Amino acid sequence: MAKNSVQLLQQYFGFDTFRGGQAQVIDAVLNGYSAAAIFPTGAGKSLCYQLPATQLPHLTLVVSPLLALMQDQLAFIKSKGIQAASIDSTQTREQANEIMQGVRSGQIKILMISVERLNNERFRQFLSQVPVSLLVVDEAHCISEWGHNFRPDYLKLPQYRRQFNIPQALLLTATATEKVVADMGRKFDIATEHITLTGFYRSNLNLAVQGIASGDKIAYLCQWLTPRVQQSGIVYVTLQQTAEQVAQQLAQAGINAKAYHAGMNSDVRSQIQQQFMQGSVNVIVATIAFGMGIDKSDIRFVVHYDLPKSIENYAQEIGRAGRDGTNSDCLVLANRDNLNVLENFVYGDTPELSAIKVVLTQIVACQGQWEIVQNSLSSQSNIRLLSLKTLLVYLEILGVIKPLFSYFAEYKYKMLVNEPQVLGHFKSERQDFVRAIFDSSSKAKLWATVDFDSLNNQYTSDRSRVVTALDYLDQQGMIELQTKQMTQVYQVLVADFNLDKLSEKLFNRFAGKEQSEIKRIHHLIDFFASDQCLSQQLSQYFSDNSLTQPCGHCSVCAGLVAQLPVAAPTTPLDSVDFEQLTSAIRAKLAENCSVVLVSRFLCGLTTPLFTRLRVRSLHGFARLEQYPFSEVKSWVESKLSQ
Ligand code: ADP
Ligand code: MG
Repeated sequence: MAKNSVQLLQQYFGFDTFRGGQAQVIDAVLNGYSAAAIFPTGAGKSLCYQLPATQLPHLTLVVSPLLALMQDQLAFIKSKGIQAASIDSTQTREQANEIMQGVRSGQIKILMISVERLNNERFRQFLSQVPVSLLVVDEAHCISEWGHNFRPDYLKLPQYRRQFNIPQALLLTATATEKVVADMGRKFDIATEHITLTGFYRSNLNLAVQGIASGDKIAYLCQWLTPRVQQSGIVYVTLQQTAEQVAQQLAQAGINAKAYHAGMNSDVRSQIQQQFMQGSVNVIVATIAFGMGIDKSDIRFVVHYDLPKSIENYAQEIGRAGRDGTNSDCLVLANRDNLNVLENFVYGDTPELSAIKVVLTQIVACQGQWEIVQNSLSSQSNIRLLSLKTLLVYLEILGVIKPLFSYFAEYKYKMLVNEPQVLGHFKSERQDFVRAIFDSSSKAKLWATVDFDSLNNQYTSDRSRVVTALDYLDQQGMIELQTKQMTQVYQVLVADFNLDKLSEKLFNRFAGKEQSEIKRIHHLIDFFASDQCLSQQLSQYFSDNSLTQPCGHCSVCAGLVAQLPVAAPTTPLDSVDFEQLTSAIRAKLAENCSVVLVSRFLCGLTTPLFTRLRVRSLHGFARLEQYPFSEVKSWVESKLSQ
């Protein structure tokens, strides 16, 4: 078998040899097993499905979290002459139909989709009709609630695999702890011997942690960069505002640095990225938005100006340094200043029990089909969007609801060509139909909104025909179309559940998640403050035990164990004036007032309700953000019950 797969490698891809781990994973898949490949970024995970896909009898279905990742992979596969396609949101219905036809006929061997595509009943219907040999889950750690970057929709993948009778699964990820690996393996029935981990340790990365007070960071960084001004590197920060500030300060110190963050427009961003790739900008000061899909091999340093979000994030981010194998430096500037803030973010994500009940009550009341606009439901229930998505997935897994399809509730258009001219393009019945769309729309100065009901009264036509017509007019440049209010339609499968019991069960699940997130933050701090070899610890965290001796080139091995300064002492809550800090918010919340909401307000944790009520400007907001949420909560509780 081994020889065989090497031949395939040469034949299809023109590569001479496999890289570490590839042969083992590929042979497992070709022998009919499910498998997992846990290799560092850039090690060649994609090949583990691309090669078998050419040999498997039926379709290889690849689920990927990012459109950009899909497009890169597709371009590569196609350049090797393998038939592959994606179905994604940028395509028209016709394009998608054409691709589905290609899959049905067996011409397309690899189909890439986002996980959200599976929420569409029409697409699931399609999938149930075509045989699929292999389900590939890229960035598979997204499936674990206990890992980082959890994507709620990923949780449903094992269920879909069963539903579509997909015999084999292949999971790909760069960063998975032992617990996450075990979790993934269990959910997809992967035998331990088919989980392949290549080493995590990279001997050319010098890890260093510097304990430092926030006020001293910039001076330290400037000095640290002085001998490195000719090199390429990335400085990661948490906030967009910090990215701007630090970039400016570095520039003032004569370092060729630019900021890069999600708040900048995409043209500017891709320009900066290009300058960095070409070497005309040396240092990028970025929020975590930077780096996905960056393929620059000579990045000589990665600095974490603020603590990374998790050890997994840290691993992924430093992984961008030294791809060419040359020594590279990774520095973390660490203190405990933002520890409470980090923890409090976690608390802000957990929905209140009463909020969960709001959602369940809607389900009970609607019977049959349940239509939601996620943003509105998030605001009605006061549950943050990501947590709401998680809740909906939990409900799906419990068999309470089932997604049917989604549609845009609102279609708006602006005429780019005058109406008679547009109508001139059509004859007889079609012309009447298009005219009826225009006539029935409610018009503002520039934009008109399609009124489906009024149109239907004038001219009987189903919604899909109207949408198709609008898409066509838009494509022909006759109108500019805007769609809004993505509405999800669920079928309610069980409406007679015990509301209190189910709410509690769901709430407990969120509480468990909260605890594990908090533990992860502590683990992160312990890691940076540790007196054991950093390389060794990091490798072990990712189940690589190959480094049996201390590495000899990290800051701990150099004898510099980081001392993380503790945040400035805060005044005890006993001496804080409760009335003074909370009278405004309590008045504003009125009957919605609760211990959790008041505590969130004081800790500066926004919720959809707060956004609606614009509480940020009220006196007291975020005044206690440096205090642990749990302490604030007990304090508020004792005050409110007095
Ligand atoms: P990962 O998903 O693990 O981050 P990719 O699958 O994107 O990595 O692969 C990174 C690069 O390595 C790609 O350009 C790919 O074509 C190349 N590559 C993969 N396997 C091999 C191989 N056996 N020989 C040469 N190049 C390879
Ligand atoms: Mg990849």
